[in-house]
Amino acid sequence: MLKATLLKAAGSAFLQRQVTANPIARRVADRFIAGNTLDEAEHAIRALNAGGMSVALDYLGENTESEAQARESTSSYLAAIDRIQDRGMDANISVKLTALGLDIRQELALEEASKVAARGKEVGAMVGVDMEAAIYAGRTLDIVEALKRDYDNVGVCVQSYLYRSRDDLDRLNRLGIPVRLVKGAYQESPEVAYPEKASVDHAYARMLDALLAHNPYPMVATHDPAMVRLTKTLVARHHRDRDTFEFQMLYGVRRDLQQQVVAEGYRLRVYLPYGTQWYPYFMRRLAERPANLYFFLSNLVKR
Ligand SMILES: Cc1cc2nc3c(=O)[nH]c(=O)nc-3n(C[C@H](O)[C@H](O)[C@H](O)COP(=O)(O)OP(=O)(O)OC[C@H]3O[C@@H](n4cnc5c(N)ncnc54)[C@H](O)[C@@H]3O)c2cc1C
Repeated sequence: MLKATLLKAAGSAFLQRQVTANPIARRVADRFIAGNTLDEAEHAIRALNAGGMSVALDYLGENTESEAQARESTSSYLAAIDRIQDRGMDANISVKLTALGLDIRQELALEEASKVAARGKEVGAMVGVDMEAAIYAGRTLDIVEALKRDYDNVGVCVQSYLYRSRDDLDRLNRLGIPVRLVKGAYQESPEVAYPEKASVDHAYARMLDALLAHNPYPMVATHDPAMVRLTKTLVARHHRDRDTFEFQMLYGVRRDLQQQVVAEGYRLRVYLPYGTQWYPYFMRRLAERPANLYFFLSNLVKR
């Protein structure tokens, strides 16, 4: 109920204005977001790299409403790739197709994503495509498949809470497209997604097996210690070398677990968002864990 309310609030333009104008909200959000600028993101990337962690850099923004905004997002991504390359940082890129114009025209999102994929390919950086709300899943996968024809450096996220995802994963495995497996962060109806957390977890475990058995480069994106343990068991069962898959976790979430997997010698990539459009991302992080909301509210009250 609380989760659903927060996820609904993530789409409210009114609340976005209120929350983003509030300096305390910004301070709490800083736990999850590297800063407003590429310079601040660079600082955070360097600290993570120094701790033995790679980065997936996300320029925040979603559901752009004009072609000009979509092209601006592309420019920001291209600048981020250039910065990563110029400064020799261990990072790649993660994009949201609605930031690149998917709400406007599918061809526009494909065109813009192609520019990002092409620049990534030039410098040897992978471009991960985030998976957004279920209404975008089919179009997202169509675009990723189209990109795959020209670029071998593109991967995509698959959410275990969607009923369709098991078939999507099998198809992506057959096509040799790297997959980041997550549980799913949006508010979805029981028509398309498992409503119970136990079912989402169960689906994740089953898909993890298919991912580690058949995907060219599995990206296991979770902070769930049970799934991290299961990954280690499945990796041994499928005779996977440690440099053929990676764990991924979000910036500011379960840093203890992040350090633990690195200390154990596994690859870990931290998903690192930056930019001024942090409100919906922040609300999804609050929805995932009620303690985050209480922390946020208690900071507001202490003011
Ligand atoms: C690298 C990465 C990329 C992602 N990309 C996408 C995407 O493209 N599309 C999408 O829908 N979702 C994405 N997600 C989010 C994902 O779908 C989940 O909502 C999120 O990861 C929580 O699920 P979990 O697997 O950690 O398991 P859960 O069972 O939800 O959590 C396990 C434990 O992790 C900790 N934890 C989880 N979330 C938080 C939090 N916000 N704050 C503090 N502690 C927390 C808690 O200790 C919790 O008990 C991504 C997640 C990661 C790690």
